[in-house]
Amino acid sequence: RFISIEGIDGAGKSTHIAALTERLAAGGAKVLNTREPGGTELAERLRELVLHSGMDGLTEALLVFAGRRDHLQRVIEPALAAGQTVLCDRFTDATFAYQGAGRGMDLQVLATLEQWVQQGPRGLLRQPDLTIWFDLPPATAAQRRAAAREADRFEQQDLDFFERVRAGYAARAAAAPARFARIDASGTVDEVAAQLRAVMEARGC
Ligand code: C5P
Repeated sequence: RFISIEGIDGAGKSTHIAALTERLAAGGAKVLNTREPGGTELAERLRELVLHSGMDGLTEALLVFAGRRDHLQRVIEPALAAGQTVLCDRFTDATFAYQGAGRGMDLQVLATLEQWVQQGPRGLLRQPDLTIWFDLPPATAAQRRAAAREADRFEQQDLDFFERVRAGYAARAAAAPARFARIDASGTVDEVAAQLRAVMEARGC
């Protein structure tokens, strides 16, 4: 199965991905941890460009999708075909949230790229089977980032940007309720971990 993990910066994804990996492995799954943007040598190089050189939204989206294509072909599809569990830190929902809702890219263009790039077996659209969305108010996430003194190019941007990104995730979740599991990530690590366990149990993993 294919599981993606989503949320705005400071949502606490990394902490919970580690716990989730252990849980899945303890249950007998062979887990492949990967991430986007990135996940292959080429896609990691594209990630560097996307995150550290200024460019317009369409260029950014094209590079992210180019990396995704490489990632799917070289890593994700072979792993799924071999029966592994793929745990991906961000996937296409992040593109809709960051480049689409955050940076104002045309969502129809993104949907077209999604269709082109995510052709799975038998021509079906390849999507995660489950998307775990760590949701919290941007102000709470900003406090966490400040406490961790994380520096990235979005640190300077105002909360409005992350409000738009959050709304972008909410729209994707509303459009695919069976795939999305929303977790209230505003609580303590233990509280969030408990919700995550409940979600995984409800899904039989
Ligand atoms: O989740 P991670 O820390 O790997 O994300 C790295 C950075 O990439 C974050 O600042 C995130 O906001 C940004 N990002 C982006 N567009 C995407 C995915 C992530 O700008 N499609």
